[in-house]
Amino acid sequence: MLNSNRFFLAVLTVLMTSGLCSVLLANGQKVELKHDYNIKPVSFSKVTIRDDFWTPRLETSRNVTIPYCFEKCEETGRITNFEKAAGLMKGKHEGIYFNDSDVYKVMEGAAYSLQVHHETMMRLYLDKLIQIMDGAQWEDGYLFTFYSIPERQPEKLWTNIQSIHEQYCVGHMYEAAVAHFQVTGDKLFLDVATQNADLICDVFNVDKRTDPPGHQEIEIGLCKLYRATGQEKYLNQARFFLDQRGHKGNRGPNGDGGLYGSYSQDHKPVTEQTRALGHSVRAAYLYTGMADVAALTGNMEYIKAIDTIWKDVVDTKLYVTGGIGAAGGHEGFGGHYELPNMTAYCETCASIANIFWNHRMFLMHGDTKYIDVLERVLYNAALSGISMEGDRFFYPNVLESTGQHSRSPWFGCACCPSNVARFIPSVPGYTYAHKDSDVFVNLFISGQTSIETSNNKIKLTQQTQYPWKGTVQIYVEPEKSNTFAINVRIPGWAQNECVPSDLYTFHKVVKEQASLIVNGKRISPDIKNGFARIERNWQKGDAIKLNLPMPVRRIIAHRDVEADRGKVALQRGPVVFCLEWPDNDSGVLNLVIPDDANLHAKFMPDLLNGVMVITGTAQVAKRTIDGDIVPAGERQFTAIPYYAWAHRGRGQMTVWPARQLKAARPEPADTLTYISKTKASFVHSSLDAIKDQILPKSSSDPSALHLDFWPHKGTTEWLQFDWDQKHDISSIKIYFFDDTGRGECRLPESWKVLYRDSGDNFKPVNNNTPYHTEKDAFNKVDFEPVKTDSIKIEIKLHQKWSAGIQEVIIE
Ligand SMILES: [Zn+2]
Repeated sequence: MLNSNRFFLAVLTVLMTSGLCSVLLANGQKVELKHDYNIKPVSFSKVTIRDDFWTPRLETSRNVTIPYCFEKCEETGRITNFEKAAGLMKGKHEGIYFNDSDVYKVMEGAAYSLQVHHETMMRLYLDKLIQIMDGAQWEDGYLFTFYSIPERQPEKLWTNIQSIHEQYCVGHMYEAAVAHFQVTGDKLFLDVATQNADLICDVFNVDKRTDPPGHQEIEIGLCKLYRATGQEKYLNQARFFLDQRGHKGNRGPNGDGGLYGSYSQDHKPVTEQTRALGHSVRAAYLYTGMADVAALTGNMEYIKAIDTIWKDVVDTKLYVTGGIGAAGGHEGFGGHYELPNMTAYCETCASIANIFWNHRMFLMHGDTKYIDVLERVLYNAALSGISMEGDRFFYPNVLESTGQHSRSPWFGCACCPSNVARFIPSVPGYTYAHKDSDVFVNLFISGQTSIETSNNKIKLTQQTQYPWKGTVQIYVEPEKSNTFAINVRIPGWAQNECVPSDLYTFHKVVKEQASLIVNGKRISPDIKNGFARIERNWQKGDAIKLNLPMPVRRIIAHRDVEADRGKVALQRGPVVFCLEWPDNDSGVLNLVIPDDANLHAKFMPDLLNGVMVITGTAQVAKRTIDGDIVPAGERQFTAIPYYAWAHRGRGQMTVWPARQLKAARPEPADTLTYISKTKASFVHSSLDAIKDQILPKSSSDPSALHLDFWPHKGTTEWLQFDWDQKHDISSIKIYFFDDTGRGECRLPESWKVLYRDSGDNFKPVNNNTPYHTEKDAFNKVDFEPVKTDSIKIEIKLHQKWSAGIQEVIIE
């Protein structure tokens, strides 16, 4: 064990850059950083995008998302909180205590956007905000509006850093301030940030406070401040915060730290952590911060830990869309292979954090597998978080829906919209990288860049219709002809590897290989760390043509992923597809795509801003009266890119349609309940759920879907079942929903059955058995047979609780 660790560390030492790296400081000086990432990204500001897929997204971000998010920040008091704190107006704090962070994040996005497209109005707006923030900052550097209004409350500062998120908020401020300085050269915001960081260094140190932040983020911000100012104390402070995590005995206001537990990755020292646990946004920000500090200090222990954790995620905790976070309860990672689809969390923020983390892993190790994961998140889980119009957002990004999900205009906790606002403008920055005299082409996006390497200036121009077509032209124009390597990423998916683990595999091996042509001649370069390394004497006018085969590929999940058993996902290029109701006669969960069904890809320019679709013939699964599941005919199906779903109203969607009959959610059998026209006094969740014939495992089972009356409490609610003709009915079974521990639904106080006697006259049935209200079982009532065309069930709720129903069976 020791030996292998030593070997591991020796290998990593080689991977890290030990030579000095120069950065330009805020004061205009150049300084040498002792350590940095092995590979340098090419800043988004050096990459011009002219791409059919990404240009509209970037334009929408600039013209819609960023102004819209500022508008929302104003509307919801997030900006007036700062004005109040600056003494410009009076009033109480509005909204959630960590709302400052959203304003900083949108400002960061606005700064990025200014870099590419200068707009005077946006510049003036940012200047105004920064003036207000400067005014809201306390004399000692403190800045957090929640404790600043209606008057300053110095006694409360840092009293609850586990939950109040002062450090999370200022971490975002540091990121925004650095971005603003880099774009405008104006130092005011950076001064506000460094004054605040100086205070943080003064309050949290070995001699005073040693409890770690409750929500990571400040570590990333401090590293950026270090790069912008060259002040080592900010880097040391980031490292200090990392090192306080997981130590029992840390001194906080309650005398002890190391108590937040795995939810905040505080269960063990970070260098001893081996599994991705807890809240997934906190976790991925932590791992990103560890990568930064490791790169900037040369600390190998952090790298060893994040390498192990990365493997844990990619082996067992990554959704096929690239999303992370399986459980809504703690917004975080589930256990190994716990990847439910309908209740998937996959928070948009976690996707963005996962991109940050994987990008840094690439810069450290230089392997394409990290860009493979990054690309999977980018084109799927992350892009799904924002509508194509740019002003509707997903917080969780589920992989299956019966119609209960839609994007929202905003959220009380608006972390996701503001994160998208800062992320989309930065996308061009993930395209290229360089090391010494070599360059890397990581993503395939049409446009241009100019890369300053150690001894040359290299202009690269890409032309491609990626992600729809696999042909990529790269034109090379070095300032001077010389020998260097262009490393072109050959994506894992183009080499029959779905993800860098056995979590997902392609059902069939595609024989056609990626090919490369340089100046018209086919070449077979060495493949190094997943890159085709083309080393030659490059001259102006040279051209590379990459061809990536893009057949439709079927994906099968590891057998331990229970939610995906008997199911198949479809991918073409980097894009994961889904079946959605408008293209599929409303129902998709009952479809079965057999392994031998032919699949065709076709570009539809007028659908969803222009998307590739996949079509084929599916079987329809139907339940019989005896409970068997049988094929009941065929239907043409159409799959669209996952990111493009939820733009045409609510309904069914699935990323994982069945490939075997038993894995489908069959069309229900023609029971009396199913063929009735059903209505209810009130519907929260799904009315269809009570007759979908999916039997719950327990009253609390969320996967079976249910109807509930929340937020109604203490009322009498009803369900009504109508038929075109009269039927003989003598018993009814109800399975109640109860979400004790999660929500406000409990078993009802009582219930009774009525039948339509004549006209609108309903009479109670004469029951032979009592009306039970038991948990985790059907409650059956037998009554003297009635001949009727309508049954009504009245349900009396407890005074303080709501109630719900999983399933109803009328016989
Ligand atoms: Zn979020």
